[in-house]
Amino acid sequence: MRATTITRAAAAAALAAAVLAGCGLGGTEKKSLAGKDSLVIGVKEDQPALGVKRPDGTYEGFDVDVATYIAGRLGVPKSRITWRTTNSSVREEALAKGTVDMIVATYSITPKRKMKVTFGGPYYVAHQDTFVRADAASIRDVRDLKDKRICEVRGSNSWRRVIEERKVAAKPVTVDTYGACMDALAAGRLDAVSTDDLILAGFAAGRPGRMINAPFTDEKYGVGLRKGDLKGCEEVNRAITAMYQDGTAERLLTKWFGKSGLKLTTSVPQFEGCT
Ligand code: GLU
Repeated sequence: MRATTITRAAAAAALAAAVLAGCGLGGTEKKSLAGKDSLVIGVKEDQPALGVKRPDGTYEGFDVDVATYIAGRLGVPKSRITWRTTNSSVREEALAKGTVDMIVATYSITPKRKMKVTFGGPYYVAHQDTFVRADAASIRDVRDLKDKRICEVRGSNSWRRVIEERKVAAKPVTVDTYGACMDALAAGRLDAVSTDDLILAGFAAGRPGRMINAPFTDEKYGVGLRKGDLKGCEEVNRAITAMYQDGTAERLLTKWFGKSGLKLTTSVPQFEGCT
């Protein structure tokens, strides 16, 4: 019977260790997104049709609507969401520090980011394209960006797609946001802004210039979560599936991008899997 006693003691010790390690019972920092009754959500503030901070401090856009829907499915009403501007360069850090609970901000799932972030989704797959001034007839393809000044947004992946992945020797000009890129393009400090077609379409509606219509990547827009929150991730994926099944995704895509001329995909994207 001694063996049984020892086994019981070992089991109790293992259980205590698991509890101390925070297996679902730790402090708020380790709490899954799935169990929260209010949420801080990171979005962009200067990307028309995706994430915009209005003068009155409220936010609007496709990402804001998607995040509101997901939060609702997780049991958090709009009134218990706090929105926080989260630029490209601070996304991973904001999740790691817990200053936001989730990020819905044109945030592409990439292998490098997956090392630091758990991604739900994707909730949409965009494609990188390029926006130029109306007089730039010679830029028709990503290869034509060689020796051209393109925008490098800190923490964003788009300039890497051109220079590192496509090996096109463009000249990056660094700024903090895509709004700043568009201003620099209009002022003649840049020759092109190459990034997701949804972002460019949002800006194009209010500015002169044109999209070259030569998409060359898949940008899987993920819902960024604290690394390791697999339970939260699975709930987010269930919410995204419901968003497509109940017609909300199609309604929101039409609401924000219906007039853009982009070919919109209204079937649920292939999920990456929660890791
Ligand atoms: N989707 C790209 C990325 O996540 C560009 C847009 C952005 O930086 O928010 O890097």
